Amino acid sequence: MVYENPDGVMVGLEIHVQLNKLATKLLCGCSTDYHTSEPNTHVCPVCMGLPGCLPVLNKRAVEYAIRIGLALNCEIVEQTQFHRKNYYYPDLPKGFQTTQYDYPIVSDGRVVIEGEDGEHVVRIRRAHMEEDPGRLMHMGSIDRSKGTLIDYNRSGMALIEIVSEPDMRSPREARRFLDKLRNILEYLDVFDSTLEGSMRVDANISIGGGDRTEVKNISSHKGAERALLYEIMRQKNIKRRGEEVVMETRHFDEARGVTISMRTKEEEHDYRYFPEPDLVPMRVGSWVDGILETLPELPDARRSRFISDYRMVDTHAKALTSDIRVADFYEEVASQVDPAAAAVWVSDVLKGELNYRDLTIASFTVEDMVKIIELVVGGKITEKGAVEIIRNILDEGGCPMGIVKEKGLLKVEGDVVDQAVEEVLKENPEALEDYFAGKEKSLNFLVGQVMKKTRGRADARSVREMMLEEIDKNYR
Ligand SMILES: [Zn+2]
Repeated sequence: MVYENPDGVMVGLEIHVQLNKLATKLLCGCSTDYHTSEPNTHVCPVCMGLPGCLPVLNKRAVEYAIRIGLALNCEIVEQTQFHRKNYYYPDLPKGFQTTQYDYPIVSDGRVVIEGEDGEHVVRIRRAHMEEDPGRLMHMGSIDRSKGTLIDYNRSGMALIEIVSEPDMRSPREARRFLDKLRNILEYLDVFDSTLEGSMRVDANISIGGGDRTEVKNISSHKGAERALLYEIMRQKNIKRRGEEVVMETRHFDEARGVTISMRTKEEEHDYRYFPEPDLVPMRVGSWVDGILETLPELPDARRSRFISDYRMVDTHAKALTSDIRVADFYEEVASQVDPAAAAVWVSDVLKGELNYRDLTIASFTVEDMVKIIELVVGGKITEKGAVEIIRNILDEGGCPMGIVKEKGLLKVEGDVVDQAVEEVLKENPEALEDYFAGKEKSLNFLVGQVMKKTRGRADARSVREMMLEEIDKNYR
């Protein structure tokens, strides 16, 4: 199957990733721990842009950028340099942003995603390092806000901006690319996606070869998908009226699900880029080879290993490796119980129940999962009972054995079921007669009566088999 792309959708993404696993900011020694700090407490003359101070580049930040570049199959540029991007905005006290311009540290890479028609390559144009501005908090919707608060704790945090080619052909592909990218970055251990504002997306979109618009500062992957769906609809409506789409920057209002025009797009020369005189050009040299050797196993490699080591199907391997926390959880469980059973229970059942509740794997323990799988594999509880335990733990807490006792989930012994089958047949001669007369339904009724007597702790399929055996033996 080939995806036709009926509207000629082309989406390119620019993703600002905060390197929030660094201890200090990009150009000064201030702590990066701002999420739990009082506003404006991690600041110094450098990140406040006071005159006369000199920046010092964070070596670890450069290392992280190189790791990211290598993981995205990119070239690492031998000599690179920082520039000043000049503009005035209240979140930027220096009046310029220290960033990279024509010599980004990373260029020309590729990421493989699950596209509309199978595997799809999204090319990476470049990735460069820069500093984060401060954080503006609008009081209410941006276009109606009564006031804005500023937190400079974020000012000077290290960012890497990853720029893709416009290779995504639908909002869904854009979302999958973002998911894949987040996954890779977390495997690299350079970034924690659970922190607010850690990944911010600008999306370029055009349809049918027309001018593109840019939607700025989208904070979630779901938001990116929604913003793009809205933009496609808006641009189609403009074309339907015989008008042209104007190249502009728009803001996505997450609460209302609409994009709003912000300003016409600046030209690059508006920023008067010039080389940052306070930071010398940087050569990475053989450092890159050393970093390449320490690169951890990445999602695609882990997925292949899961298939060969645990003999699982690709859909399970994909589901289990698409989040490093889930993959680690699975491997811990699989080291203690049958890996095949673990794959089914973690990827099909537990993940489903977590998604349904909008929870993460952190809400469940390896210990509980192991216990539940042992109970069900050992024939002590039914599969239905196991699902009930998982739901109970997620909704009300508790431990597997406690829930088994409280709810009476232990499977009943074979002879108890035998006895129930005999009783039900004796007590319901009419149903039996109906069955002999060809009414299949009355067999279901009889099985139901046995399930009732055993309070649902027997396995319905085996009850049915035992029932047929008993009928053949004593009633024919
Ligand atoms: Zn500082």
